[in-house]
Amino acid sequence: MKKIIVAIDGYSSCGKSTIAKALARYAGYKYIDTGAMYRAVGLYCLNHGLMDKETINEDGVRQIIDSLAIGFSLQADGSQHTMLNGEDVENKIRTLEIGDAASRISTIGFVRQALVRQQQRMGDEKGIVMDGRDIGTVVFPKAELKLFLTARPEVRAQRRFLELQQKGQSADFEQVLKETNERDYRDTHRKESPLRQADDAILFDNSELTEEGQMKQIIEIFEKRIAQL
Ligand code: C5P
Repeated sequence: MKKIIVAIDGYSSCGKSTIAKALARYAGYKYIDTGAMYRAVGLYCLNHGLMDKETINEDGVRQIIDSLAIGFSLQADGSQHTMLNGEDVENKIRTLEIGDAASRISTIGFVRQALVRQQQRMGDEKGIVMDGRDIGTVVFPKAELKLFLTARPEVRAQRRFLELQQKGQSADFEQVLKETNERDYRDTHRKESPLRQADDAILFDNSELTEEGQMKQIIEIFEKRIAQL
């Protein structure tokens, strides 16, 4: 069967990775979480004094960006862990602090260009589901299937809040909601590749859907697209 590129974009915490992973498993495709790549850059920059909560040393970041080895390692249970320069950083990057660092570092044009180049190479052989903010608009403008996910901010903040609680991280709902709104604003208003729905992307609001319900619909959309090609 013909293999395609599936581009999934949307706001933070609207379940992009859950859908992307499940669809990749269903189709036997590779899954690439581009948010994890920006998070890995954020982690590196924080740990190496190239950024703090307020400032970024852009010249310093420019010097190291092409030397960072960011990849994914497949685990025995089928999940993927993000690797940074040979170290498994999966747990370290899934915090609010690193989410915020990723959101700020991703506003820099040369950081985006370096990661976009890597992401485009990953799609060379098709058979890939990639999620992020600019996949359907910048990374793979010719992707055969583009989905743009959204859900109400309160629904997304609640999901993120539960996720953090489950991981044993302390979280305050109002704070999570505030950060969700701030990230949305930054993602949609930045100069470089702002988050926007590609003209040919299918808009999918999952505020009222269960995980099962939405997967059923997404698989139908995928199968329909494959049948059209
Ligand atoms: O999706 P996730 O929350 O892990 O992404 C972290 C941050 O990385 C986002 O808030 C966004 O600013 C940035 N990002 C991006 N482009 C992508 C993926 C993520 O700018 N393709």
